[in-house]
Amino acid sequence: MSSTLSIDLHTHSTRSDGSLTPAQLVEHAAAAGVEALALTDHDTIAGLEEAQAAARRLRLDLVPGVEISARWRHQAIHVLGLWVDPAAHQLTLALERQAEQRVVRMRRICAALSKLGLPGDELFVAVLAHPGVPTRSHLAAALAASGHARCAQDAFRKYLGRGRPAHFAADWPALEQVVGWVVDSGGLACLAHPARYALSAGARSRLVGEFAAAGGTALEVVTGAHGAQHSGACAALALKFGLQGSVGSDFHHPHFSWNPLGRLAKLPHGVEPVWCGRLGAAGT
Ligand code: AMP
Ligand code: MN
Ligand code: MN
Ligand code: MN
Repeated sequence: MSSTLSIDLHTHSTRSDGSLTPAQLVEHAAAAGVEALALTDHDTIAGLEEAQAAARRLRLDLVPGVEISARWRHQAIHVLGLWVDPAAHQLTLALERQAEQRVVRMRRICAALSKLGLPGDELFVAVLAHPGVPTRSHLAAALAASGHARCAQDAFRKYLGRGRPAHFAADWPALEQVVGWVVDSGGLACLAHPARYALSAGARSRLVGEFAAAGGTALEVVTGAHGAQHSGACAALALKFGLQGSVGSDFHHPHFSWNPLGRLAKLPHGVEPVWCGRLGAAGT
């Protein structure tokens, strides 16, 4: 029965801004009783091979995934590609461009920090020293480590978040294009954490409608950072637009005790699970 499976379809490794290597992440998930896990690093599939090898060893169902940065009306939106083919040529090329875009954006952000009197060049070097694609999380950690913020959250509050002096409006590819990459690579597109975007209820509904029209399959109805109220609202949107539902913790670090791997609520009644029929015998 799918309702008894422990499933987590949204997690990060050191290939983006998580703190566990892909193999450590899979080991951590297996120890937590997770039976089906998607690795969904920001704009990269570089960790999938290592994760897949660990998953085979531990008999865990590894869903090849990625969390792609997209744009919808000047708003940064995250599209999860699930069951993507890591060998798909168009997707690989697109993700290479996304990674380049991330380096360009990081340079801009660090230049803005320099203008504020901070050591932008040193921060840029610190971020690029990480093995994964550069993200604002890495920069927030570098700002905290160098004493320019009390913690990563504080760095977002002071410099990196929306409306702050080192924030730049998203320049990611359009939502329709990103959904197209996922679908063309044999995967299915799932809109990540729909309640986290700074949108009115009406705009959120239009976003979900356009996502569905572009070929999206699912909404992340249950996410680690939100409660039952969020799930109910997302379930209603999924039903309205004929989308399936997904569950994912958005796990980054084992020391974030409020966001553990795999310990997620069930999908609200009536929402069809995105994993139905896609997870071997256990997921049917
Ligand atoms: P990026 O994709 O480079 O824009 O970085 C976004 C990542 O930064 C997200 O995936 C989160 O992991 C992290 N993040 C975004 N906003 C915050 C925040 N306010 N506090 C802490 N981390 C955040
Ligand atoms: Mn992240
Ligand atoms: Mn996200
Ligand atoms: Mn994520």
